[in-house]
Amino acid sequence: MAETYDFLFKFLVIGSAGTGKSCLLHQFIENKFKQDSNHTIGVEFGSRVVNVGGKTVKLQIWDTAGQERFRRETYNSLAAWLTDARTLASPNIVVILCGNKKDLDPEREVTFLEASRFAQENELMFLETSALTGENVEEAFLKCARTILNKIDSGELDPERMGSGIQYGDASLRQLRQPRSAQAVAPQPCGC
Ligand code: GDP
Ligand code: MG
Repeated sequence: MAETYDFLFKFLVIGSAGTGKSCLLHQFIENKFKQDSNHTIGVEFGSRVVNVGGKTVKLQIWDTAGQERFRRETYNSLAAWLTDARTLASPNIVVILCGNKKDLDPEREVTFLEASRFAQENELMFLETSALTGENVEEAFLKCARTILNKIDSGELDPERMGSGIQYGDASLRQLRQPRSAQAVAPQPCGC
């Protein structure tokens, strides 16, 4: 059976190598921690259909690869990742900052407050996640999807704009193609 959904949202998982991007994707799609995650080569993607606020949304998630592998440096590189995303994708994209590996709290190098401030100053949502335990992984993706839906409702984001990263799915298109007045009435005999 063909998948039916109201919207398709394109997600990009970006950040320094080794931060757990591929594991977050895997946890969200398969509900499992991928212990021996291989280095991502180029771009990989996965998708999952979720229900958000009564709408069916297909999240198409693109996982990207990077080369560098540092520790605290991954946090210091955030501003550069953000600039790339906003200039190369779109200035209006919805961004959530995930402080991953929350389970490794004793080895933490960035405080929750510090990252929260960065998020606030840069107009990002922020959650601490763990691809290992699954904590907040689902919430991170759904929070993003909910925000996008709200922005579509308020007209801030337009699924019909090319390159917006969002599209109407087949379910919404079927409704949109019908004139509004026809939606409430029974189908007319075609007369042919
Ligand atoms: P990527 O380069 O950003 O895609 O990072 P990976 O997903 O390949 O993960 C890099 C390493 O971090 C791997 O050894 C993972 O097992 C580990 N890892 C990823 N997420 C977590 C997490 O939430 N907690 C812990 N403890 N390890 C993690
Ligand atoms: Mg990877």
